[in-house]
Amino acid sequence: MNKVKILNHPLIQHKISIMRDKNTGSKEFRELTAEVALLMTYEATRDLPMREVEIQTPVAIARTNILTGRKVALIPILRAGLGMVEGAVSLIPAAKVGHIGICRNNDADGDSDAEKVNEYYCKLPFDINERDVIIMDLMLATGGCADAAITELKKAGAASVKFISVIACPEGIRKVQTNHPDVEIYTGALDSGLNDDLYIVPGFGDGGDRIFGTK
Ligand code: URA
Repeated sequence: MNKVKILNHPLIQHKISIMRDKNTGSKEFRELTAEVALLMTYEATRDLPMREVEIQTPVAIARTNILTGRKVALIPILRAGLGMVEGAVSLIPAAKVGHIGICRNNDADGDSDAEKVNEYYCKLPFDINERDVIIMDLMLATGGCADAAITELKKAGAASVKFISVIACPEGIRKVQTNHPDVEIYTGALDSGLNDDLYIVPGFGDGGDRIFGTK
C-alpha cells in the first residue's frame, strides 16, 4: 500500500461527507467535486521539480524557487472524471487536458462485467510523452477503467503516471497495484468494498449521475 496515499485532510474529509449525502443535489455535488479535486491535485503535485532563481523584491534580492516548467497533463476518465478537471486546472492552468472514454461491458441482461472494459474515445495531448500525467476519476471501483486508462497512457509514452480518485475501494486499488505497481494512487477515502451491482459501499452512488443530474 506504499504507493497509496489516503488524503485525510479535514477539508477533503468534510467535503466528501457532504458528497456522500443522498440529499446533496447536483449543483453542490459538482462544486464539491471541483474543490476536492483541487485539494487532491495540490497533494499529487508535491514532487514537481523546482529550480532556484534570483528575484529582485522591492527590498532586496531573494533567492527563491520556481517550477522548472516540467509539463503536466490531466486526463479525466469520462464521464465522472470530467467533474474533477475544473478544480485541477485552476491550480495548474498550463496543464493540457486529454480525455479518455472507457466503460464497463454489459452482458445481454445489462449486468456489468467487472473484468471487461471498452475504450470508446481517446484524445491525448500530442506531446504526452514529455508530460507527467495525472489520470482522474471520481471513483476507483473495480479498477477496470483505471487499469485500461493507465495502460493506454503508458503506451502513448507518458513520462510518469499518477491516479487520483475522490473515493476508492480495496478491489480497485488491488487491481491497479497488481498491474501498475509504479503508479501512485491518491484518494480521499478508502471505502469498504463493492456491492453486487459493483457500486462502492458506502460510496456516493452513481458518480456521473450525481455530477450531471442525469437521474
Ligand atoms: N461507478 C459509480 O458511478 N459508482 C460506484 O459506486 C462505482 C462505480
